[in-house]
Amino acid sequence: MDLGIKGRRAIVCASSKGLGLACAQQLAREGVEVVMIARGQQVLEAAASAIRAETGTHVTTVVADVTTPEGRAAVLAVCPDPDILVTNAGGPKPGNFREWTRDDWIAAVDANMLTPIELIRATVDKMIERRFGRIVNITSAAVKMPIEILGLSNGARAGLTGFVAGLSRQTVAHNVTINNLLPGPFATDRLLQTAERLAHDSGKTIEAVMTARKAAVPAGRFGEPAEFGQACAFLCSAGAGFMTGQNLVLDGGIYPGTL
Ligand code: NAP
Repeated sequence: MDLGIKGRRAIVCASSKGLGLACAQQLAREGVEVVMIARGQQVLEAAASAIRAETGTHVTTVVADVTTPEGRAAVLAVCPDPDILVTNAGGPKPGNFREWTRDDWIAAVDANMLTPIELIRATVDKMIERRFGRIVNITSAAVKMPIEILGLSNGARAGLTGFVAGLSRQTVAHNVTINNLLPGPFATDRLLQTAERLAHDSGKTIEAVMTARKAAVPAGRFGEPAEFGQACAFLCSAGAGFMTGQNLVLDGGIYPGTL
């Protein structure tokens, strides 16, 4: 299936590993020129090289912390007018809300709410002028089904979701869509990080925690990042222009609601 986005330019944030990397990979397979961002240079360069070798697509790397104004400025200097924007950043630390200070909350809101909003603010009007834009925010299934130890994530991402719900209805008439992709448990470093905390709190081994988490997934397995990348590429496709303001859950069937 031709997604109709060959030759488009994409910024994919936090993309040297995991879900962001899978989105960059799949967009490059569709012929999209990709700007990849992460803080660690070595892993980022290796990931970009692998994508170039596989797809022959133009890939640019920016070593930056996307949650800082300087980091975002560095990204936008390289690609001021993307057709596609995939926002992403590391998730906040897990824990008990009694441990979290105001600074912890500010950091979570900065990374998982204000960073995507700032990137949207910097790019959406130029997308509207060109009458094409696809914005995908990587959030979390925790937005629909809160995870107890991820209160910082539950809270900050809900703020972004509320903002996007309003803006996405204003941009769609200009063929600029904004949607959120909500990952459930995907086999990435982040999943291990939350399992480590659960193991610490419960006195169980990490293996036992991971086995229990997997058993709770109706699909009987964790998600593969490539599956996430393919969903992202679909939302970025030319044919997805009638879909905006949606929260697409990718969780192997965990969310139990009818709607
Ligand atoms: P991951 O495998 O740990 O990868 C995180 C990626 O983001 C790495 O490339 C990392 O590179 C980059 N990154 C982190 N902070 C950054 C920053 N401030 N600036 C630039 N790049 C940054 O994580 P993941 O599983 O892909 O998760 C992606 C997002 O989805 C996170 O917000 C996570 O909370 C959320 N999520 C994941 C799951 C899951 O099961 N995997 C479930 C729900 C929600 P550097 O460290 O080198 O910067």
